Amino acid sequence: MKRIGVMTSGGDSSGMNAALRAVVRTALDHEVEVFGFLRGYSGVINKKYEVMDSKSVSGVIQRGGTILRSARCEEFKTDEGQERAVGNLRELGIDGVVVIGGDGSLRGANALSKKGIPVIGIPASIDNDIFGTDMSIGADSALNVIVDAVDMLKDTASSHDRAFIIEVMGRNCGYLAAMAAIACGAEVAIIPEITFDLDKIAERLYARYKEGRTNSIVLVAEGAASAYKIDEQLKGRIGYETRITVLGHLQRGGSPTVFDRILASRLGRNAVESLLQGESGKMVGQVRNRIVLTDLEEVLGTCKMVDLEMIELTDILGR
Ligand code: ADP
Repeated sequence: MKRIGVMTSGGDSSGMNAALRAVVRTALDHEVEVFGFLRGYSGVINKKYEVMDSKSVSGVIQRGGTILRSARCEEFKTDEGQERAVGNLRELGIDGVVVIGGDGSLRGANALSKKGIPVIGIPASIDNDIFGTDMSIGADSALNVIVDAVDMLKDTASSHDRAFIIEVMGRNCGYLAAMAAIACGAEVAIIPEITFDLDKIAERLYARYKEGRTNSIVLVAEGAASAYKIDEQLKGRIGYETRITVLGHLQRGGSPTVFDRILASRLGRNAVESLLQGESGKMVGQVRNRIVLTDLEEVLGTCKMVDLEMIELTDILGR
C-alpha cells in the first residue's frame, strides 16, 4: 500500500484525535501517505480531505473531539452514495481505509469492505457498546466526566436532603450508568439491560429514609428512561425532595484519560499495520490487554451487554 485514507465518523468521543495521530504516524513510519477525510463519509463522497503529515497531528493527543470533524452522512447509507465513495477512493489512489467511529460508522466500514475497499475499523464510542473490544475509545473519558459531576452533585444532595436523578448517555447499553453507579456509590442504577420496577425503587429509598438516610443518587441511562419520567414516579414517595440533572453533551467533551490515550494509540497503530498485512473487513480491539482483530460481520452481529457481575455490584453496594 502506498496511500491510505482515515476518517472519524458518527458521534465524537474523546480519544479520536489520539487514534488519528497513531494512524498517521504509523503509516508515515511505513512510508505510506495518509489522506484525512473531513466529516466522516461525507468527506469521501464529496472528496474533502487533507493530506496528513506528522505535524498535522502535533498537539492533538490531549484534545477531545476530532480535528478531522465528524458528521452523520445519510447519503452513504444508500448504494449510490457508497458507489460514489468507492469511485472517489479509487480515483484518489487510496489503497485502504481506517474508519474511527461507533456502531453505525463500523456498518459503513463493512459496506465499503464489501465493495472491495480494504478497511479496518477502530471502535470509538462513549457507550462502550461495541463487541470485539473490552473498551471502546472515549468510554473511560466519559465515565470520568460523569463521576466528577456526580461527586459534585452529591455535595448538594447531602447538604439539602435531596435525591438527584441523573441521566447519562447510553442508547442501548447501561455501561456508563452502571459503572458510574459503582464508582460514585450511587443508590440506584436504571439501565436498559434490566427491567426496573419503580415501585420497588421508591420503597427501597423510603425504607432508607426511615433509617435516617435522607439523600440518594439515582443514575439513569437514557436508553432505559428519561430522568423526567423517573422523577414523576419517585417524587413524593421517598420522604425527601428530588432534583433532576441531565448531563447531556458534557459527557463527550474534555481531555481523554490516560487509558483512552493509550488505547487509541495502540488501536491506531494496529489498524494501519493490519491493513498493510492485507487484512480487511475487520475491527481492531483490545481484549484482556491484547490487541485482537474481529470480523466486522461478527462485531455488528453481536450484542455487547454490561457484565452481570457489574449489575449485581451496583445492586449490592447501593443498599
Ligand atoms: P456512530 O458511528 O457513532 O454509531 P451513526 O450511527 O450516526 O454514528 O453512524 C455514523 C455514520 O455511519 C452514518 O451517518 C452513516 O454515514 C454511516 N452508517 C451508519 N449506518 C450505516 C449503514 N447501515 N450502512 C452504511 N453506512 C452507515
